[in-house]
Amino acid sequence: MNLARWDQRIRRADELAAAHPFAADVLRFYGLVATMQKGLYWYSHESSASDPAALLPRFPQFLSEIEAGGTEPIARSAREWMARDAIETRESLAFHWRSASPGTSPEALVAWLFLQPFGEHLAEGDRHLAEKAASAVCPFCSRRPVVGVLRPEGDGARRSLICPMCATEWPFGRILCPACGEENVEKLAIYTAEQFAHVRVEACDTCGCYIKTVDLTKNGRAVPVVDELATIPLNLWAQEHNYAKVQPNMLGI
Ligand SMILES: [Zn+2]
Ligand SMILES: [Zn+2]
Repeated sequence: MNLARWDQRIRRADELAAAHPFAADVLRFYGLVATMQKGLYWYSHESSASDPAALLPRFPQFLSEIEAGGTEPIARSAREWMARDAIETRESLAFHWRSASPGTSPEALVAWLFLQPFGEHLAEGDRHLAEKAASAVCPFCSRRPVVGVLRPEGDGARRSLICPMCATEWPFGRILCPACGEENVEKLAIYTAEQFAHVRVEACDTCGCYIKTVDLTKNGRAVPVVDELATIPLNLWAQEHNYAKVQPNMLGI
């Protein structure tokens, strides 16, 4: 169990909210969610949960806080979740848990926010899987990556990818599209903005997908999943250039 990882995410969200007013609302909401997720992660661990249904007793309180702090679509979805009976709730959560990739509808986002810490708890027993993997999907739960990371290695950097559900990080080639496997450097575009020197868009002209990669060799304080959320102008650039995200983040962006 690693509770410090959650504290690091929450702290980073505060830091970035202060530095980037345009992302402050998004990051404040993330901070609220991550604080609850830390509790859900602890609960998953303490109850040795092996099925997401084990977290159901914590769902009502989670929903009421999401309703109070979320955007209107998320708040509305939280109310819809609250209106369901126990069987319906259990079945809907199980449906979202089984889905191949987290969806972007408000209903799916609420389920994802709630289930993610359980996924992280579950994957912890199998972290060794990640060391050998080099696939385009998570070696633990087969979901597509939400963000890439460059970590220092020797004089350069190595790239890895992070799973949106279980937070597993696994190695992946630097010149390689995680959506279609393109390796031709001329088809792989990189875009950076002056504002965020340590985050770049890696886009593929063969399949039209993109992922953001957070370069820890340039900014060791960055926390990839949080910096990914904050760098909204990069999403706008990618949209304007007709690139689609490999996997939208937990706010549906
Ligand atoms: Zn995973
Ligand atoms: Zn591609």
